[in-house]
Amino acid sequence: MPRPPESVVHGSQAPQTASNHPVPTALPQQLPALDKLLRLPSAAAAVAAHGHTLVADTGRVLLADLRAQALAGTLPLDAVAPAALADALQQRLASRLAPRMQRVLNLTGTVIHTNLGRALLADAALAHVQAMMAGPNNLEYDLATGSRGDRDSIVEGLLCELTGAEAATVVNNNAAAVLLTLAALARGKEVIVSRGELVEIGGAFRMPDVMESAGAKLVEVGTTNRTHPADYERAITDQTALLMKVHTSNYQVQGFTSAVDEATLAGIARSRGLPLATDLGAGALIDMAAYGLPREPTPQEMLRAGCGVVTFSGDKLLGGPQAGLIVGSNELIARIRKFPMKRALRMSKLPLAALEATLMLYQQPEHLAQALPTLRLLTRPLADIQATAQAVLAALGPALAPRYGVEVVALQGQIGSGSLPVERLPSAGVAIAPVDAPRSGRALDALATALRQLPLPVVGRIADGRLILDCRCLEEASSLTQQIPFLRP
Ligand SMILES: *Cc1c(COP(=O)(O)O)cnc(C)c1O
Repeated sequence: MPRPPESVVHGSQAPQTASNHPVPTALPQQLPALDKLLRLPSAAAAVAAHGHTLVADTGRVLLADLRAQALAGTLPLDAVAPAALADALQQRLASRLAPRMQRVLNLTGTVIHTNLGRALLADAALAHVQAMMAGPNNLEYDLATGSRGDRDSIVEGLLCELTGAEAATVVNNNAAAVLLTLAALARGKEVIVSRGELVEIGGAFRMPDVMESAGAKLVEVGTTNRTHPADYERAITDQTALLMKVHTSNYQVQGFTSAVDEATLAGIARSRGLPLATDLGAGALIDMAAYGLPREPTPQEMLRAGCGVVTFSGDKLLGGPQAGLIVGSNELIARIRKFPMKRALRMSKLPLAALEATLMLYQQPEHLAQALPTLRLLTRPLADIQATAQAVLAALGPALAPRYGVEVVALQGQIGSGSLPVERLPSAGVAIAPVDAPRSGRALDALATALRQLPLPVVGRIADGRLILDCRCLEEASSLTQQIPFLRP
């Protein structure tokens, strides 16, 4: 065992207590050897439960850290007591055994929150994933003929049925769908897009950059606020491969504006023998207005208007797993599917199972608002949300008094993920503010941190000197209120 360097004077450099008495410190040689640490009763139990490899490795790192502290003269003497060592080992083991990916409660007021995993999967999708992943499946195997099949065929029929498309294919996410569509249809050629639609989605998805990655040349037409049919017509040359519309899903240009709609643009494209592609982003497969929600264009409308290809996300308004859906004409989808990059962007069996089960829910539209969590949360009655907020107030108010005041407030939520950016959903929740130090950022941050440290972390938002917990996505008040005993603000 290495000896402490002579220069370390134990005691004199020791940590100070609040009353300024030095704390007695431990010497490196007071630490046990690894095998002795592993013979402590709780450590031996851990070895029996988790195996020697993990526990011994954790013990080795623990002892090395403690030895470094002892050499620096900063290791309190009571940290080398057997019970303290056993505790420290347990804590480190628990942390290594806890997954980094954790469930949280999304009380941000944004229903489809990209940082919190976007759409929640429906029970039917979870069950299908579980059932399909538990054994081999017919991912690329045709059970009728006993020969090789195509994984696209698992959802192609459903996608065509639901959108009216002739053909469909799927990739990892919508960014991949746009990249693949551009590369397959326009590599080395020109794509015409309105200046009003050169969107950035966030997470480095910018239309001009995607165009470049796909090897296509972007030809911008019109201005930020106004683009006319003649702008497209004038820009078409023998180098043009594609006309493209991009749904401005995360912003709106208002005022003196003009854009060319898909039907008009499809007419221009057709007369020049060119395809028209539309990137929709949000991907509502149903008329949102029928559910009292703001309208969002659907792929079926785009196809009817004459678009040859439509791309959209699986985990935004569609309410499924991360996926990029590409629907369109037989000829264009065949070119996209054959393009070699498709192999690198293809969907894995896990989300594919979830996507199939999610799309199947759309076959029964009468049950959709109940079965699809995204739609259920977006259409949740305000009175229901208010009742949840009251239940949260009743439990949280007394627990946070007298340091914090809690009240029920009316809120404006968002759909999220770039869907319907301007629209707000009337919602309700609780607002929490420090009583002594109104508008104290530190007290609010401390409370927000304590909420995130709960067993099921609670994520709210801070606005106008208050911590806001929007209750739209809190379907059971108890999933928050039963955690209150663990709250350490
Ligand atoms: C969200 C979005 C994308 C990217 O989709 P992902 O599924 O996140 O890859 C692309 N285009 C538009 C218009 C979008 O709204």
